[in-house]
Amino acid sequence: MTKQQYILAIDQGTTSSRVMIFDENGDVHSHAGAEFTQHYPKPGWVEHDAEEIWQVTRKVMDEALEAGQLQPTQIAAIGITNQRETVVVWDRKTGAPIGRAIVWQDRRTASLCQELCEEGLEPDWQQWTGLLIDPYFSATKVAWLLQQDVNLRASTKAGEIAFGTIDSWLIWKLTCGKKHVTDITNASRTLLYNIRECRWEPRILQRLDIPEAILPEVVSSSAIIAETDPSIFNGHSVPIAGIAGDQQAALFGQACTTKGLAKNTYGTGSFVLFHTGTEAVHSQQRMLTTIAWQIGKEPVEYALEGAIFITGAAIQWLRDGLGIIQNATETEALARSVDSNDGVYFVPALTGIGAPHWNPDARGLICGLTRGTHRAHLARAALESIAYQTADVMDAMCKEAGIELTELRADGGASRNNFLMQFQADILNVPVDVPVIHETTALGAALLAGRAVGIWPNRETLAARWKLAHRYAPSLRADKRQQLRKNWNRALQLALSP
Ligand code: ADP
Repeated sequence: MTKQQYILAIDQGTTSSRVMIFDENGDVHSHAGAEFTQHYPKPGWVEHDAEEIWQVTRKVMDEALEAGQLQPTQIAAIGITNQRETVVVWDRKTGAPIGRAIVWQDRRTASLCQELCEEGLEPDWQQWTGLLIDPYFSATKVAWLLQQDVNLRASTKAGEIAFGTIDSWLIWKLTCGKKHVTDITNASRTLLYNIRECRWEPRILQRLDIPEAILPEVVSSSAIIAETDPSIFNGHSVPIAGIAGDQQAALFGQACTTKGLAKNTYGTGSFVLFHTGTEAVHSQQRMLTTIAWQIGKEPVEYALEGAIFITGAAIQWLRDGLGIIQNATETEALARSVDSNDGVYFVPALTGIGAPHWNPDARGLICGLTRGTHRAHLARAALESIAYQTADVMDAMCKEAGIELTELRADGGASRNNFLMQFQADILNVPVDVPVIHETTALGAALLAGRAVGIWPNRETLAARWKLAHRYAPSLRADKRQQLRKNWNRALQLALSP
């Protein structure tokens, strides 16, 4: 009998680094995690210390091995998934970061983005990169960093400086500076990468005055990309074989590997990703087109992505803003304690509204109140709003891609709410599937790595790692569904024009 092999997945998130070790069945063997410092030096600015991220990640790797009583020699491969778009710039000679990492949430480049939009660049840039011109993406953050220091600019031209997203940075550290790479999914979030021609886009680099010498080499999401330096694991080298941005990894971990399959991660906000096969669908409705992954040397696969700003955060607001619940879990029983929403709708546009409406001026709204309204109706309306917003994004995506949705796969904190999942199935009129493993992001990174080293050699063995915990079948009459969506839409229109 051959000895059991394991895959170590690094999930480097916005607030914490987690490591999950999976066995050959795709089950979690052990895990560890730790938070790191968030820096808010000015309003709208969010920074991380890249060195601290590396140190914390390294520590939790050791802790996860120890918790699982494993030796590095038992790890067949490492997979990496990470917070996307965050920018790290470092000195190639010393390996030290230059300044702090600028996090995806950071809005400091809003005026530069406005300038670029006023120049009329957005249609071309969207066509090339699949993204919109927004501070969220890496490009303007890199440009900002380089503008800060004349010496830095001279060094970039001399090739002494490296830029990368967090995946690049971790691989640089894991290989002790031997590899400066990024995977194609992370590249597709920088606003510097042409997702159709699969190359860094010279016209954008030129406009932002970013020298090509600082960019990483773009590699496949599932292939042996590098080996860890022997100093990392007591003289032993482990292949790094899977890399993907967090939402793409979750799509892979949900086994949405064929055209038409979609997942929604119900967290603070929600990310809907819809696999569109080998076609990059250009969105007319300000949805993002992104690279889903590239497996080995196979053709690149694409997805449409819709970000909904406030979903789980609407529940947090009931708790912290209104104080009408103690914790998120109780919303399920509360929602069930009333027969219907009784005409109460809550549009949680608490920070404007994202896909598919993109209206930063929209304000939150609760309507349909009567003297009979009580907190259960508000809890129910908040949960329902999560499902309506998701349905609005799904409808827009299906229309744009010309593909019909057959099911939706759910993960994230709020996917534990049975009322919400059932209501989602009812409103979409397709089944909603919740898998056994909720940590689909880490699982996705592990699967990408495991595929490359032959543990799960093909799509069938990969898909078999996805196990259904519960399927919520739609059970609402069509006329009732249409009426509810009409009412929601009326409330939404009020929120969109405050
Ligand atoms: P993130 O990764 O964005 O921090 P999580 O996936 O951990 O988010 O999910 C946390 C969010 O889900 C919170 O906003 C919380 O309000 C919401 N949430 C957690 N459990 C439930 C539940 N049972 N019902 C409804 N919402 C929930």
